[in-house]
Amino acid sequence: MKKIYLDHNATTKCSEEVYNEMLPYFKEHFGNPSSVYSLGLDTKEVINAARSKVAKLINAKEDEIIFTSCASEANVTAIMNATKTFPNKKHIITTMIEHASIMETMKYLENNGYEVTYLSVNNLGQIDLLEIENSIRKDTCLIAVMMANNEIGNIYPIKEIACIANEHNIYFHCDAVQAVGKVRIDVKNLGVDTLSIAGHKINAPKGIGVLYVRNDISFTPLIFGHQENNRRGGTENVPYIVGLGKASEMILEDNYQTSGKIKELRDYIEKEIKKNISDVFIYGDMDNRMPNTSSIAFLGVDATKLMMMLESFGIFVSTGSACNSEIAEPSHVLVACGADLEKYQPIRISLGKENTKEEIDIFVRNLINIVNVLRK
Ligand code: PLP
Repeated sequence: MKKIYLDHNATTKCSEEVYNEMLPYFKEHFGNPSSVYSLGLDTKEVINAARSKVAKLINAKEDEIIFTSCASEANVTAIMNATKTFPNKKHIITTMIEHASIMETMKYLENNGYEVTYLSVNNLGQIDLLEIENSIRKDTCLIAVMMANNEIGNIYPIKEIACIANEHNIYFHCDAVQAVGKVRIDVKNLGVDTLSIAGHKINAPKGIGVLYVRNDISFTPLIFGHQENNRRGGTENVPYIVGLGKASEMILEDNYQTSGKIKELRDYIEKEIKKNISDVFIYGDMDNRMPNTSSIAFLGVDATKLMMMLESFGIFVSTGSACNSEIAEPSHVLVACGADLEKYQPIRISLGKENTKEEIDIFVRNLINIVNVLRK
């Protein structure tokens, strides 16, 4: 049975081009980038070439890019940096719908003398800029808001939020993990202080991330050491950095055309579903959504059963974010949106560049049949 993978917000397959580009750096060019002989200098050079490609992708300067082990590390580094820069300011603003790496860091800080304001979202998952303004205090050191939500796909007004933060001399961190590659990102235009990226959401491998740090802000590392210009210790993961560079280059070469095609497929799925199934509910902000995501529910249908039945036909979707799917608790994002999960439990469909119209037709056909069976 052919597998149809529709869970690209959880992770993506490493693309052939990325994989091939990485291969020589496992065995042939294995030198430590800190070594001063040619075997090391070669790898240092490719790291900097990758840095330049990532910088170009988000319109940053090369020295503003720090490679990390994952986006979670980038998020934690950015948050802790704000606390270290403003040691006397013990208040942070974030949202109720951030990724676990942000939420859990906030919990840790709350247990260590910080107060955190969690901005609410409305039924569409939107945040209110006025609530941000009203939440700011004299002792606020950081505002952290994601660019796009992994579950419902909403895109948030990052430029406007960064502007509010800048006016109050508060650091602004943006988790852009889900948005990268799907929507254009220009850090200079957005005015963010720090921003995080994960390789595995853009067809590069898992276990590589980036923290963008605007070069005029103060920075204290999370992991001390001399690599990454003294900003992130640890011998560099050369093959994965090369892979992330290649993936970034490919996004720019594609010029977001694939994103447009993916959106057409996503819109086609939703249209076909609505045409063939009654009582459908789509979560999120229909006017500000990532092009690949649909969080879609069918009145009275158990999302876990639906997901499992789809899997028996070789189709992979999720019922929440990958990081939460082992936990039986309802998704914090859907709860924050005030979702009526007794009635409407969504599955999340998230498309990627490999998906074809043929796959989507098979998916829709199976979905219609399964929902009918589950409703009997
Ligand atoms: N932020 C968001 C919005 C995510 O969806 C994820 C991954 O699922 C992360 C951060 C963490 O990325 P990583 O797995 O590289 O730590």
